[in-house]
Amino acid sequence: MNLIERVVAISRRRSPWICRLNAGSCNGCDIEITPLLSPRYDAEQLGIELHGTPKHADIVLISGTLTLRSRQAILDIYDQVPSPKAVVALGSCPLSGNVFAGSPLVLGQSLDSLVPVDVWVPGCPPRPQAILDGIARAASLLEEGATRSQMESLLEGGQGRPS
Ligand code: SF4
Repeated sequence: MNLIERVVAISRRRSPWICRLNAGSCNGCDIEITPLLSPRYDAEQLGIELHGTPKHADIVLISGTLTLRSRQAILDIYDQVPSPKAVVALGSCPLSGNVFAGSPLVLGQSLDSLVPVDVWVPGCPPRPQAILDGIARAASLLEEGATRSQMESLLEGGQGRPS
């Protein structure tokens, strides 16, 4: 990693911008994100900001179970986030479908089968502290050049998305 890349990596760790995607959530996980912006957790003081566009994000935060309708949106948003990037899966739904498993509109597959997930934050829903910790871990991986997409790009010269 050269000097410029190192500076960019440090600034990313200090100030990771987050793009949030609800893939089919009951909103329970999303409600737990809101306290991060309150004075109690004050994630912005740590440089963590939520942004509406994936094109300005470093980390994608995905909640909810994967559905037939959200599949393409997940792929599109992941592709729009510039590299290097990290993915944080929020709650039990992205892993297993959780309480929605078996529904005819649910894909029945893990988020990891669509995009490379770097950090799983367990819980139904996870507490705000756990979400903050997951974001911090993803930012550390970005700084170290150790996100799955970064590693896969290095190894395969590809886009970092599982085939
Ligand atoms: S993990 Fe629980 S709280 Fe979060 S979206 Fe799924 S059902 Fe809702």
